[in-house]
Amino acid sequence: DQKSMDKIVNLCKSRGFVYPGSEIYGGLANSWDYGPLGVELKNNIKRAWWQKFVQESPYNVGLDASIIMNPETWVASGHLGGFSDPLMDCKSCKTRHRADNLIEDFDGTNPAGWTNQQMMDYIREKQIPCPNCGKTDFTDIRQFNLMFKTYQGVTENSKSELYLRPETAQGIFVNFANIQRTTRKKLPFGVAQIGKSFRNEITPGNFIFRVREFEQMELEFFCKPDTDLEWFQYWRSYCKNFLLTLGLKEENLRLRDHDPEELCFYSKATTDFEYKFSFGWGELWGVADRTNYDLTQHQEHSGKSLEYMDQEENTKYIPYVIEPSLGVERLFLSIVTEAYDEEVVDAEKNDTRVVMHLHPALAPYKAAVLPLSKKLGDKAREVYAVLAKHFSVDYDETGSIGKRYRRQDEIGTPFCITVDFDTIEKDNCVTVRDRDTMEQVRMPIDELVSYLQDKVTL
Ligand code: ATP
Repeated sequence: DQKSMDKIVNLCKSRGFVYPGSEIYGGLANSWDYGPLGVELKNNIKRAWWQKFVQESPYNVGLDASIIMNPETWVASGHLGGFSDPLMDCKSCKTRHRADNLIEDFDGTNPAGWTNQQMMDYIREKQIPCPNCGKTDFTDIRQFNLMFKTYQGVTENSKSELYLRPETAQGIFVNFANIQRTTRKKLPFGVAQIGKSFRNEITPGNFIFRVREFEQMELEFFCKPDTDLEWFQYWRSYCKNFLLTLGLKEENLRLRDHDPEELCFYSKATTDFEYKFSFGWGELWGVADRTNYDLTQHQEHSGKSLEYMDQEENTKYIPYVIEPSLGVERLFLSIVTEAYDEEVVDAEKNDTRVVMHLHPALAPYKAAVLPLSKKLGDKAREVYAVLAKHFSVDYDETGSIGKRYRRQDEIGTPFCITVDFDTIEKDNCVTVRDRDTMEQVRMPIDELVSYLQDKVTL
């Protein structure tokens, strides 16, 4: 398989995108650290999202709320009561499983909306086996809360119990009134946030697809009641365009609308954006019409009015909200998967190259400066310094030029700039090689910045 998970994981590890977390201590299961190239790619992904969802949007503003919140937040949001997975233990081998996964993995049935009793009955009736030992004897379902608990201050009693946020959204809802008042925004408007979230997932895995510590990019878009379904459609297509702009291919994307039975009780419409990862289709982005549920809950629990005064119509109401919620790691994985390619360069010589066709805006390095001889180092470093004022650039003077090109292809650097003897002796020009076409053009050093700027703009 050309884009197998193994190949992608290996490239990520060997080139410094993603390392296993705490590796020298034997690691910590399903934790990952982002290396020198990974942090660049991650930052570029977040920057692209911020550009499209905040900077270029006439409606939206940003926020950076605290990870640790007043625990009453989680009572209001429903996370303390309902944010849990239905777990069953295998009585034979003592492994733990999610009941819904057992069913779905067994025969493809999606048990969304079923009660625990319905799931247990189904598992017993179909004699669904334990994926680990094959026996069919499970305990009853227990609900397992996914929030990480911690303590504030020095005492470990239940009064000081706190939770790490399992989503960034609630930080936006509790600041709705603050933001509306201070920005004096009129509906519709949105609040965007990027930040860490934590979930004590039962079955993490598939590399960085499902982890316990991850980052979300969430928008809560507030609008008038009865305009929500229009805005839902607006953001649904805005999100799709964003993914296509970043280079994900239409054929690897699937917009799955929830059926009425699958919808959360407060949601009027939900679409899961799924990407065709190397392990199969998986949720990348959830876009939901959450009605006025969240603000209503917070108004009730806080006792503070979260109504909006509509000056034009001289009425008050709690706004409706559309929420596109996207995971940074999942977008990272889909971008790397999409970009990864093994290309035959010369069939006769059996010559292939690994290349990542990353959008230049996302590439960790926008360019690499490569002197053809070490004697050209001074000039090459001059070029490097000019570019480094504007972009992340790499510098490499070791090995043959062919090998250096391949190393850059593999990490997705869109342009290689070679400095040769003509550069200093004749024309003050350099050669720019395009990663995808491998074609080369010669241009004055003075023109490099604007040439690259043009290509790396989203
Ligand atoms: P799943 O069904 O895969 O558990 P979810 O429906 O619980 O996901 P949401 O609560 O809608 O996910 O979260 C919004 C987005 O946050 C997801 O679409 C995904 O991109 C990201 N996300 C959620 N959980 C994780 C996780 N454990 N690891 C990485 N990303 C996650």
